[in-house]
Amino acid sequence: MKIIKFCLFFTVLTLLSIINISKVNAQILPQGFRTSIPSVGGIPMTCRNALGGDVILVVNNSLNDIGRSYPEHRVIQMNSLIAARLPNSVLQFWYAHECGHHALPPPLNGDESRVDCWAVRMLRDLGLLPTIAHINLLISSIYGLSGDYLHLFGPQRAALIASCYASL
Ligand SMILES: [Zn+2]
Repeated sequence: MKIIKFCLFFTVLTLLSIINISKVNAQILPQGFRTSIPSVGGIPMTCRNALGGDVILVVNNSLNDIGRSYPEHRVIQMNSLIAARLPNSVLQFWYAHECGHHALPPPLNGDESRVDCWAVRMLRDLGLLPTIAHINLLISSIYGLSGDYLHLFGPQRAALIASCYASL
């Protein structure tokens, strides 16, 4: 588990992310743009799968969601039109969430709650969410989501993320 935490790394000081926590990232990337080191909320991030393989981000601006993962292809797709409207910390969470679908081994990587938990702890352990106050923005955005057969209803999902943040 400790090794997995190093799969996602950042090269910019934590303080920078605190300052930027509510800044909107307005970068809209072209359809099909690919990179293994995307700038997510102004911070270079990478993702590796459970076997250590690089996961590539591919921009798909027609995606009907912020992101989607294809673990068998080591690809994360994200919609940069939606991403551009999100606060940095929320966008970083969604990238980390999609990365969790790769970084956790099967079958855990198919469990949306485990992936949420992995993502928020990842951001916390990397210093991007240093106190509970820093996740308020994230929690409030998750709170309003409707659930489905894979995802908990927003308030339950937000509570789980807050509890994962507060525990090992
Ligand atoms: Zn997911």
